[in-house]
Amino acid sequence: MAGRGVKGASNRSVSPGIKRNPSAMPSFPTYLTTEQEDELRKIANAIVAPGKGILAADESTGTIGKRFAQIGVENTEENRRKYRELLFTCDTVASENIGGVILYHETFFQKDSKGVPFPKLIQNKGIIPGIKVDKGVVPLAGTNGESTTQGLDGLSERCAEYKKGGAQFAKWRCVLKIGSHTPTYQSMMENANVLARYATICQQNGLVPIVEPEVLPDGEHDLFEAQKVTEQVLAFQYKALADHHVFLEGTLLKPNMVTAGQSCSKKFKHEENAKATVLALSRTVPPAVAGVTFLSGGMSEEDATLNLNAINQYPGRKPWALTFSFGRALQASVLAAWQGKDANIAAAQAELCKRAKANGLAALGQYKGGMAGTAADKSLFVADHKY
Ligand code: 13P
Repeated sequence: MAGRGVKGASNRSVSPGIKRNPSAMPSFPTYLTTEQEDELRKIANAIVAPGKGILAADESTGTIGKRFAQIGVENTEENRRKYRELLFTCDTVASENIGGVILYHETFFQKDSKGVPFPKLIQNKGIIPGIKVDKGVVPLAGTNGESTTQGLDGLSERCAEYKKGGAQFAKWRCVLKIGSHTPTYQSMMENANVLARYATICQQNGLVPIVEPEVLPDGEHDLFEAQKVTEQVLAFQYKALADHHVFLEGTLLKPNMVTAGQSCSKKFKHEENAKATVLALSRTVPPAVAGVTFLSGGMSEEDATLNLNAINQYPGRKPWALTFSFGRALQASVLAAWQGKDANIAAAQAELCKRAKANGLAALGQYKGGMAGTAADKSLFVADHKY
């Protein structure tokens, strides 16, 4: 950058002897029109309206297969369609607390049993459809088991197609691991950068990007270490988003809540997790960001809800909506109740309504407990989780 406002600072971009027009400096090309910015801001704010969060139903075919295996359901296209129909035809009560649903590519082009495309069905309920656009986690060469996420090739064209089909937001997940020497500078840099590239491509196509740099819960680290690593990862993230001129008001952040590692011998209270989480966010996430939509990361349903509630009750600096974008913690009781049987659909939908309501209350800091579902206390941890 040309030494703006610094007296006598050199300006390497201007050749000696050429007189610069000071009124023309600095020049930052904007990549979005005011109308595009307004649209993105409106979508982002609607998804995280008070008491609302996101249902993450974007499990890849392999991942949903693992969930189905636990309840003895075969992983066929029709069973996946039926299960998603169960989720998306849930009572309108759920739409009071669900602002957006994230879909997987296959689901985006599927229809309910009456022939209504799933994105349309979701819109009809007053919920905003979203789409997972990353193509999965891949090894980062030269690291000790770290990764990046692929999917930038052709992304702009895919985003345009999803937008045409009704999607208003997108998700891309990167993962970072806590170990004795990780996350490394290389992986924090690379993952922050690829998320920033993805974010600009989404925004140019009218999709609000959910930026998800997940610090995995695997490990023996304590709460303090988790907080420090989350702070570092988020600091890299917002530097990269700034470098790429991402319009922050039209973005959502999807981070891990700060919790001690899964194998840490010390257990921390929800209030302690909440304090560590709010501190980490307040030190790194600009107030311009529309909202923070936490992933559940393998916590039990009830733990995820109680942590979210404690986060909203914690009296720290919190200029953004703080809500949920849960996959496992919204679906574990639903799957357990369903068991693949048509006769259980109503019971399974009642579980989804209950979890959506509980998390909606937690997003307002008003959850008092006592709404546990069938699988509420079951740990949903999966080592080295893929989505
Ligand atoms: P979990 O809530 O199951 O962690 O997943 C949310 C998600 O979308 C991860 O990308």
